[in-house]
Amino acid sequence: MTSTWRNWAGTETSNPALEVAPRSVEEVADAVRQARDTGRTVKPIGASHSFTAIGATDGVRLSMRDLRGLVTADVERSRVTLWAGTHLHELPAILNPLGLALANMGDVDRQTISGATSTGTHGTGLGFAGLATGIVGATLVTGTGEVLTVSESENAELLPAVALGLGALGVLLTVTIQCVPRYLLRAVEAPLPLTEVLETFEERSRTADHFEFFWFPHTTSTRTKTNTRLPLDSPERAPLGRASRFLDEEVVNNALLGAVVGLERWLPRSTPSINRAIESVASSRDYCDESHKVFITRRRVKFREMEYSVPLAAVPHAMRELGELIDQKGYRVSFPVEVRSAAADELLLSTAHGRESGYIAVHRYHRDPEDGFFRDAEAILAAHEGRPHWGKMHTCDAASLREVYPRFDEFLAVRDRLDPDRVFANAYLTRVLGE
Ligand SMILES: Cc1cc2nc3c(=O)[nH]c(=O)nc-3n(C[C@H](O)[C@H](O)[C@H](O)COP(=O)(O)OP(=O)(O)OC[C@H]3O[C@@H](n4cnc5c(N)ncnc54)[C@H](O)[C@@H]3O)c2cc1C
Repeated sequence: MTSTWRNWAGTETSNPALEVAPRSVEEVADAVRQARDTGRTVKPIGASHSFTAIGATDGVRLSMRDLRGLVTADVERSRVTLWAGTHLHELPAILNPLGLALANMGDVDRQTISGATSTGTHGTGLGFAGLATGIVGATLVTGTGEVLTVSESENAELLPAVALGLGALGVLLTVTIQCVPRYLLRAVEAPLPLTEVLETFEERSRTADHFEFFWFPHTTSTRTKTNTRLPLDSPERAPLGRASRFLDEEVVNNALLGAVVGLERWLPRSTPSINRAIESVASSRDYCDESHKVFITRRRVKFREMEYSVPLAAVPHAMRELGELIDQKGYRVSFPVEVRSAAADELLLSTAHGRESGYIAVHRYHRDPEDGFFRDAEAILAAHEGRPHWGKMHTCDAASLREVYPRFDEFLAVRDRLDPDRVFANAYLTRVLGE
């Protein structure tokens, strides 16, 4: 019996022919070999948190749920090797006793380490690149069923492809991650006018460890979040009280937001006034806690998301154009636009490959109709040499992606080498990488 696969946002479904949950390296290799021999495709899946059909398959759905946890630790070099199915939210229990933490995180921790890195998941901070850049080694089962080790000393030339491989190169079994000593983050959250934040975005991104902002369309204000890294024993430690965290995150960010966007769906004309009302009560917060507790928020209200990276300096222009688009076309957008940054890196398909990047993410409530907003926003972001997040909604194909990834063909050559028979193909990969 197989069940219909559905991603977190409910935007994609598929019906696999077979579901397998391997418990060992041998079982993964057997599953891949059997699929290949019977002409089926294989799709390993993590937490299904991608908004695209990158995880869809009508072949063999490989659940990584039984390959989780710590394999080995090298505390001297601050490195851990993890089973590929380990969820990010399981990491504090693994890393804290070793005195380690991830160097940076996005804003949720439900993903698996291999799903997050395979799609280029990132947080914010110009001094920090995406999560996949922390991968210093991996083992995987390739499309021919072989177990391959890739590290700085073994098959090192494959690392820039394998660390961010879109699930196209093999089934990751383990990943070795470069961590950092545990640290605190002091978070200062404050409202700021949109014009001011756009004028100072680059400077704020350069001076803060981690800077991001949210802009509610139809308003002139933003909520900024500026995080400063501090040593673990810093006397500044001042966690949010349980009641305050519950009020802000569960009541305001989830229950209230859920009710409001539900209402706006039926009364779309009320969106601008509701957004302005929400923005006017935006609270300021100043607190300091262990890194993962500050990076992570709970997202229970479902949404659809499209996110593009653009060159850092293009962020203010692209944001102004987005604002004009919403005004001119009369779109009613109830969810905020999120803006972040990341350091340049050298991974072949990283959205920040070779350039300091700004990230602009647009969202819609998952039940809102498709009214053309994403299509029009995508045209603006793509025109700024935009590169779409691999796990978020976009309409690019291999031809347009080759234009914005200077080493695209090198990735395809690695794909030809590791998966010559396209055992890991699905419709999404065929669109973005070609046959
Ligand atoms: C609420 C929410 C918040 C988010 N926040 C952020 C954010 O802050 N920053 C950001 O950049 N992104 C964010 N994302 C996007 C998310 O991080 C990515 O889509 C990520 O891929 C999800 O991880 P996953 O474990 O669910 O992977 P899945 O969606 O399950 O899989 C993604 C891809 O990874 C492949 N894969 C999974 N396991 C393996 C394996 N063992 N070997 C080889 N390939 C594998 C799959 O085949 C698939 O191609 C968010 C998504 C949601 C829904």
